[in-house]
Amino acid sequence: HPTVKPLLEGGSIISSGARALVEGGLQSLPRLQMPGALLVGDAAGMINVPKIKGTHMALRSGMLAAECLVAEGGDFDAHWRASPSAAELRRVRNIRPGFHRGLWLGLANAALETAVGGRTPWTLRNHADHSALHRLSAGEPPVDYVERTLEPRDRLASVYFAATEHDEDQPVHLKVADTDICAGRCTEEYGNPCTRFCPANVYEMVEEDGQRRLQINAANCVHCKTCDIKDPYQIIDWVPPEGGAGPNYVNL
Ligand SMILES: Cc1cc2nc3c(=O)[nH]c(=O)nc-3n(C[C@H](O)[C@H](O)[C@H](O)COP(=O)(O)OP(=O)(O)OC[C@H]3O[C@@H](n4cnc5c(N)ncnc54)[C@H](O)[C@@H]3O)c2cc1C
Ligand code: SF4
Repeated sequence: HPTVKPLLEGGSIISSGARALVEGGLQSLPRLQMPGALLVGDAAGMINVPKIKGTHMALRSGMLAAECLVAEGGDFDAHWRASPSAAELRRVRNIRPGFHRGLWLGLANAALETAVGGRTPWTLRNHADHSALHRLSAGEPPVDYVERTLEPRDRLASVYFAATEHDEDQPVHLKVADTDICAGRCTEEYGNPCTRFCPANVYEMVEEDGQRRLQINAANCVHCKTCDIKDPYQIIDWVPPEGGAGPNYVNL
């Protein structure tokens, strides 16, 4: 933005990163315990989305989980849902889904929810909103912003600043269940949105022997998890790469 640009001009980039926000809120939380596992923090989806605050949720839920484990057999799911953290998420549960109907309705809904402290008698539902991806295949959006001159200028430069590292010969940690969909249906219906929404240029459609195919540059991945969430066919599965590989955020 022209107002912000002078503040950044002449500065140097220390680090950069990307991470999808867990936006589902209280109504999307799964059961928090299962045989052999408890879900806490972002793994469960405990972010206060309007504030983009989740560190306190992660700490509190981790502490509560530990207390339940020490109490041997404590019902962590029930305890968490009765906790101040759940009450906090209940107060803001309708704010993010309110924006599915546009900015102005979303703002009006956010004002109402804030004024009544989330005591509205309804809970708005979340939905995947893959239909928004159709707009990407309809062509590049018209450029109505000033020319971008500050670094980084491209996505691969951002990968460098994320200091991401994977052994080139390790198994690909982005599992695409059916790559025929990429070259066929997805090209026609959505224009291969993964080639646009991935901040690290991991997905490329390349021509080979007259055929288009998906190329996965897995070593670039900055572990933002966007592809696992946003892929309209839900055929991309992000799995943990070999131990320790990934971005190395030092000053973020
Ligand atoms: C852009 C952005 C801005 C934010 N701003 C704020 C803010 O200002 N204030 C605030 O309170 N919150 C903020 N949050 C939210 C906050 O960062 C998270 O809610 C919080 O970090 C969640 O903590 P966590 O421990 O649950 O998960 P994480 O911080 O995601 O930690 C999970 C860790 O597990 C590691 N891991 C994953 N898989 C494996 C595996 N298989 N083996 C070993 N390790 C693994 C990951 O590398 C990661 O280090 C922000 C989030 C984003 C994306
Ligand atoms: S491959 Fe997926 S998880 Fe990795 S950077 Fe791209 S969108 Fe994010």
